[in-house]
Amino acid sequence: MDFKQLISHSKEYGFIFQSSEIYDGLSAVYDYGPMGVELKNNIKKYWWDSMVRLNQNIVGIDTAIFMHPSTWKASGHVDAFNDPLIDNKDSKKRYRADQLIEGYVEKIDIKIMKDVAKAKKRFGDDFDEVQFRATNQRIIDRQTKMDDILGRMAALLTAEDMKGLKALIEELEIACPESGSRNWTDVRQFNLMFSTQLGNISGSESKLYLRPETAQGIFVNFLNVQKSTRQKIPFGVAQIGKAFRNEIVARQFIFRMREFEQMEMQFFVRPGEEMKFYEEWKSKRLTWHKSLGTDASKLRFHNHDKLAHYANAAADIEFQFPFGFRELEGIHSRTDFDLIQHQELSGKKLQYFDPVLNESYVPYVVETSIGCDRMFLAMMTNALQEETVPDADGKDSKRIVLKLPAAIAPVKVAILPLLKNKEQLTNLASDVYHKLQSHFNCQYDEKDAIGKRYRRQDAIGTPYCVTVDFDSLEDGTVTLRDRDTLLQKRVHIDQLLAEVADSVSMSNLLEKL
Ligand code: ATP
Repeated sequence: MDFKQLISHSKEYGFIFQSSEIYDGLSAVYDYGPMGVELKNNIKKYWWDSMVRLNQNIVGIDTAIFMHPSTWKASGHVDAFNDPLIDNKDSKKRYRADQLIEGYVEKIDIKIMKDVAKAKKRFGDDFDEVQFRATNQRIIDRQTKMDDILGRMAALLTAEDMKGLKALIEELEIACPESGSRNWTDVRQFNLMFSTQLGNISGSESKLYLRPETAQGIFVNFLNVQKSTRQKIPFGVAQIGKAFRNEIVARQFIFRMREFEQMEMQFFVRPGEEMKFYEEWKSKRLTWHKSLGTDASKLRFHNHDKLAHYANAAADIEFQFPFGFRELEGIHSRTDFDLIQHQELSGKKLQYFDPVLNESYVPYVVETSIGCDRMFLAMMTNALQEETVPDADGKDSKRIVLKLPAAIAPVKVAILPLLKNKEQLTNLASDVYHKLQSHFNCQYDEKDAIGKRYRRQDAIGTPYCVTVDFDSLEDGTVTLRDRDTLLQKRVHIDQLLAEVADSVSMSNLLEKL
């Protein structure tokens, strides 16, 4: 299914609405509807349990969105949390200079992929992609060009050379995607933090920022957490919470939002041991993504060319969104940068006494940081499918189905009386509903023909439908329909819970980790 269909499906079935839609919406801000909030909560719970419940040395925290303004001075966000901004003078459209260049490079990459696909078709099973890429001159030239441009861009970004970035855009003759014009303004730095005032005093003293990442709440509480939980290094602190960034270009639905949610975990380690844990967390996080059924071919690592001011190693886990491979999660080795900075600005020691080494030090940090909304989009991308299946008369019919892993599906079981105006059926169906509702999220639906109700449940990803019919009144059995296989079987009402509980439970997923 294409991206437009995904967006309209999300709205039609109550997953995601544009914020303040009746006022024509607020750009890059979204609300989660009744189905969306269930899916999002399940994603958060799975992440939380995989961190906090499965690891004795990871604890949770929930810190405030507002923090002392010095926090952002210390972390470097006031001075360095910038993106290079460029405007097209004709279309008046605003872009990130680095994204314009990346877009140019992506077009070259698409040409390479087309050549590879053609060759694959020509050579069939004998095709060796690695060899083809290494020997085909046209591909070698294009790859060299891509590497050269990305290398130059990384150097310019590191040097904060805004003039150089503009020159590169001009040299590559990049045009505004909207108007085709090459009439660009200069490139300038734009700080992504939102600011507001504390109380009713104005002036720089009372200037507050909405946090652009949740991580700093963990850093400033490092000793509070360590002392109150008596954790020994290595240990981690996990947090889920809102973050805010005044993104320059915020398109692509919930991929890039101005208000979003992060799931972050900071892992405190001995200086010098950070690379071991960095590799370990890279691999653990990839396993987590695969445990949710994401195909390995849709996930890849991308090592950063340009490291953030705080990092000595960084990689993204990229996912193949409908608009290409993009960052889903970041794994960063943040050194002792943040803790040292907070120590200096606050004048308070943020050291850990290591009883094994018998010495005190400022720990190093490896973090895993994933956007909950991006994860939501990745899950919707994986799950939403159009299929041809046999209908009740055995004829081919199309269905839209959301094949979410059962454990994160918004509704686990739908209970459907065959007819709505037969009280005996609706009464028994209600009984079944009440029996199951305290175990997991269920829906009772009696409106429309049964086929239509099945389709509605398929569209929101409900793994099981239970139909109560006239036989149920006789023998206490119901029809249990599986969303994916479409197989139906008769199950006694007393056996229903046992029948579905295991496959909709999150424990199954957690055990895979
Ligand atoms: P990008 O390069 O896409 O702007 P980033 O490198 O700035 O992302 P990080 O600062 O590493 O992102 O943030 C960690 C995670 O938070 C990202 O991997 C992403 O999943 C999520 N995230 C960051 N910015 C946004 C946003 N504007 N909207 C939604 N999620 C976001």
